[in-house]
Amino acid sequence: MKNSARRSFLKTATLIAGVVAVPVSFLSKEAFAVLVPKSAMQYRPHPNGPNNEFHCSKCVHFTPGKSATADGTCNVVEGPVSPNGWCLSFTAKA
Ligand code: SF4
Repeated sequence: MKNSARRSFLKTATLIAGVVAVPVSFLSKEAFAVLVPKSAMQYRPHPNGPNNEFHCSKCVHFTPGKSATADGTCNVVEGPVSPNGWCLSFTAKA
């Protein structure tokens, strides 16, 4: 490949890489999230554990609602979830 052809190829490849990379950088990991039905995770609107210490508001997957008692959302199960709920994917916050 001649130098001018190689230079042209590299410019084109760089341009294409830039065009593809910029939109991909705007995609968040949530864009790829697939939520599962509550029944698949045996979700229930009340806590679990010997002292009811395992519940959504203490789970890493929970995003709180507008108040401490309002339903929030979860990045595992679909739909609103109670802060006092629980499911098989419960993972305690550190
Ligand atoms: S993963 Fe389960 S326990 Fe955790 S917030 Fe979601 S529904 Fe609640």
